[in-house]
Amino acid sequence: MRLIEAEAFAGGLGLESYRGRQIFHQVYGKAADSIDAMTELSKEVRGLLSQKAYISRIIEVKRQCSIDGTEKFLFALEDGHRIESVLIPDEDRLTLCISTQVGCGMGCTFCLTGKGGLVRNLRSSEIINQVLAVQGGLPDGRRLTNIVIMGMGEPLANYRHTVKAIEILSHPLGPAIGARRITLSTSGLAPQIKKLGESSLNINLAISLNAPTDEQRNLIMPINKKYSMAKLLGACREYPLKRRRMLSFEYVLLAGLNDSPEDAHRIARLLKGIRCKINLIPFNEFPGSPYKRPSEESVLRFQEILAGHHFSAFIRKSRGADILAACGQLRE
Ligand code: SF4
Repeated sequence: MRLIEAEAFAGGLGLESYRGRQIFHQVYGKAADSIDAMTELSKEVRGLLSQKAYISRIIEVKRQCSIDGTEKFLFALEDGHRIESVLIPDEDRLTLCISTQVGCGMGCTFCLTGKGGLVRNLRSSEIINQVLAVQGGLPDGRRLTNIVIMGMGEPLANYRHTVKAIEILSHPLGPAIGARRITLSTSGLAPQIKKLGESSLNINLAISLNAPTDEQRNLIMPINKKYSMAKLLGACREYPLKRRRMLSFEYVLLAGLNDSPEDAHRIARLLKGIRCKINLIPFNEFPGSPYKRPSEESVLRFQEILAGHHFSAFIRKSRGADILAACGQLRE
């Protein structure tokens, strides 16, 4: 429940609306895992609440730790489906990558998550519970600093629940992870990008671009047949950016497919005039994957060409690839 919904819910139980605030704070800010644990509320109020409500949780089924410190969590949902989240420590940051769907319907050919198709959308509670579960297991004094919505699923295909989860996660009475520290990554749903731009959410937006032409992008991202690069980049150009903010373009480099010097020049021409940075992600191979990781030399050459066109281009370190926790390697 958003705060306003919690207040209305409290009102419906015959309680004052400040009780709704308390409930919201206990559930999201204090991560109370049962109504009995909400000790800020009197016994009578807790009794009343238990008749009408429960606090949903997800169960940690397995946790794997990579040699680089990345941790992958496998969670079971209440209906038995499973999702993964990835915790990525990096110097002063502690980032959690969360999922928004069970599986994914976008079918990007370089991604393991998309292989089994979409099973279902996550509810906002299931998106938030990934954060609460991981945060709750951290040692005292450690807190998540950043959230990236880049796990299983296309978040903008589950727009309503994703937006609601972001509103709650960033609320000062909730987990209070500032919107500036939340990044949502999309495969390119142009109309929803426009809608997100019109919303009051002030999060960072990343676009999974991965190719310089429609012909190449159609081959690896079927969504491009629906929303061509012209439509996608049109939505990006119109996206309202606050001062000193920029879009991110993610570019998975696939050997021999989209990693040539000409591809880099084309990308530079395409993105000209968009305030952005480009994250280059050398492909993370998985068992049976049809693509190869490009050589370090071609990755560096790609970066240099973009830099020559005055773009900030970063080569993303692959984290957790040994436990299949890296980009495009998550599955149910
Ligand atoms: S890359 Fe993202 S959008 Fe594409 S199939 Fe994988 S999870 Fe879905």
